[in-house]
Amino acid sequence: MSILKVARMGHPVLRQRAREVDATTVRTPAFQKLIDDMIETMVEYEGIGLAAPQVHEGVRLFVAGISGKGDDLKVVPFINPVITPVGEELVEDWEGCLSIPDIRGKVPRAQEIKVKAFDRHAKRVEISARAFTARVIQHETDHLDGVLFFDRMKSFETLTFLDEFSKYWNRSHRTVPEE
Ligand code: ZN
Repeated sequence: MSILKVARMGHPVLRQRAREVDATTVRTPAFQKLIDDMIETMVEYEGIGLAAPQVHEGVRLFVAGISGKGDDLKVVPFINPVITPVGEELVEDWEGCLSIPDIRGKVPRAQEIKVKAFDRHAKRVEISARAFTARVIQHETDHLDGVLFFDRMKSFETLTFLDEFSKYWNRSHRTVPEE
């Protein structure tokens, strides 16, 4: 496995719509290696999600930690994800992005979603997610459409460098991992 280079804001790959992946491609050794390398890269940089365009690959794939913590974090790939919001509740909370390092900002997202995708065996799966996990999945799916979290902010008033975030906004000592 290898650690991949993460594209930073300004690289055109982050603004392009990624292409769908067919089942045959998913099962190739090259695609399986991309999944494993992305998981390794996400863990190396202490992210909670990573989308293929962030590692210069224009395909509809992301990996995300969906449950557990630390060594027990369960990281799974989502291929060709399609999100449906459940209910109308939007929640505003902090986000960060590995492609926009050391910046945090508050972003409104659906509180609860369903997501349909292929798993790594190209089997169709549907999962329900809420709160933080739903937020991560929405953030990563946006990357596949060339959308960054700044684009979703209602205003830029909450944009904060990480040092200032820790000093002024993180009173609960809650970390906000990058995605
Ligand atoms: Zn991101």
